[in-house]
Amino acid sequence: MNPAEIPFKKGNDPRGIELELLRRNRELTALNAISEDFIKSKDLDKVLDAVLDHILTMLDVEIGWISVFDEEIGGFVLKKSKGIFVDILKEQVEGLWSVLTSNDPFFLIDLSTNPDPHFNSLRGEGVILYIGVPLRLEETILGVMNLACRKHRKIGYEDLRLLSLIGNHLTMVLEKIRLYEEANRLAVTDGLTGIYNSRHFYRVLEVEIARTDRYGVPFSLIIFDIDNFKKCNDTYGHQAGDDILQGVAYIISSFARKVDIVARYGGEEFVILLPNTEKGEAMIFAERIRKAVEEKLLSSPFIKNGYNVTVSGGVATYPADGKDSTSIMYAVDQSLYIAKGKGKNRVWAYER
Ligand code: GH3
Ligand code: MG
Ligand code: MG
Repeated sequence: MNPAEIPFKKGNDPRGIELELLRRNRELTALNAISEDFIKSKDLDKVLDAVLDHILTMLDVEIGWISVFDEEIGGFVLKKSKGIFVDILKEQVEGLWSVLTSNDPFFLIDLSTNPDPHFNSLRGEGVILYIGVPLRLEETILGVMNLACRKHRKIGYEDLRLLSLIGNHLTMVLEKIRLYEEANRLAVTDGLTGIYNSRHFYRVLEVEIARTDRYGVPFSLIIFDIDNFKKCNDTYGHQAGDDILQGVAYIISSFARKVDIVARYGGEEFVILLPNTEKGEAMIFAERIRKAVEEKLLSSPFIKNGYNVTVSGGVATYPADGKDSTSIMYAVDQSLYIAKGKGKNRVWAYER
């Protein structure tokens, strides 16, 4: 007998108790299998894949998909689907809001009688039953677990109970992964400017050195230091200084290409790693940034008429100017030092 078809019985009937135990056992086995997938993996894609597999088998349903709320986009994004063309679901993902406006723990919709046009594309695919389980954490909806079938299938109370249990599990996993990704992001980000921190920069530097050693494609480094920054702090206060630092970081980042790594290197120093870039090209790039900083009137609520700063820059190229991370950083620091010595507000390329 298929455990899903075990009738629900109450009372002290020994057969009823046995059946109830069998059912509980089935639930626990399913939940255990899913929990194990959850705990093992920090990879959302793998978790969702495993969860969908389990649910589809357990409930004997052929279509399933999971959409997750994306804060940046401000809407649901389809993360994983099985048993149906992704294109069909795009429209469905848009329409999910209509399903989620109430606080119900799940939605069981008979598409042959319910006329909601959001389900038209699913109807067109021969789907007759839709089950949606919102993945809610307190007031926030993190995502939706969706199931659908093309054939008549009786979904009982026990199935729905199991689904919402799995939904709860999945909610915790989504939250765990979100926190994990956020922690990873924070670990590589500078708190004040939002660009990478120096720890991340050093890691990328080592990777880039290894890549150049292997493939022979040079990369360049630019380091910028704000000129006379102490004066800004001394005149307008540390908070004003922070605003100016953010402004400079923003200008530098806006020039960077997708492949470049921009990091806060020290207090008021920034470093840019330009993969696949020779010194001449890096010098042109550095000069462009220097000029942009010089021309921009930076603003801060603590400085009435805005503030102008300049930066000095050093440029060095790997492997021509250094054979490892220490010597290449020394080279770029040296050229910055020369730029300062020559009167600031200029960039200098390393020369041996
Ligand atoms: P130079 O042109 O030689 O670079 O002169 P400078 O005044 O910029 O250099 P100095 O090294 O003497 O001072 C750097 C200043 O940067 C000192 C420090 O207070 C300030 N600074 C470092 N980090 C921060 C920060 O996070 N916020 C603010 N507001 N100031 C910072
Ligand atoms: Mg300085
Ligand atoms: Mg400095």
